[in-house]
Amino acid sequence: MDPFEEEHTKMYFYENRLRTYVGWPFQEGCNCTPENMAKAGFIHTPTDNSPDIAMCFFCLKELEGWEPEDDPEKEHKSHSPSCNFIGLKKSVNDLTVEEFLKLQREKQKFQIKKACNDDIAKFEEAGRLRRLQIIKTAKDEE
Ligand SMILES: [Zn+2]
Repeated sequence: MDPFEEEHTKMYFYENRLRTYVGWPFQEGCNCTPENMAKAGFIHTPTDNSPDIAMCFFCLKELEGWEPEDDPEKEHKSHSPSCNFIGLKKSVNDLTVEEFLKLQREKQKFQIKKACNDDIAKFEEAGRLRRLQIIKTAKDEE
């Protein structure tokens, strides 16, 4: 992986994150405006049923059920205390190349962890369905 490729760096930039907030339900007069959400590292990742899902581009933590008084930065820190992005002491633009590369490695760890958890969930679901089938077959044979 080339850590400097646009695909891997795009969402480090506030403007690119802000651009994802199309149809976000909280626009003004509240804490979780698109601006504050984007500042706190979140991108808007809505689904048909949930228009208010946001995910940190870095630690991939997804949060939904936002309330107008929610502070995106505080929510991010409390739900994902190990996120290196929300823990950054300086702006992305001021990072040295070395610091940036280190950050990218941490980001990759979050991605791998999420991919593993997704696989485990799929595996468990397949196991659950298989168990149900076995029970059903056993009952039919009774
Ligand atoms: Zn995060």
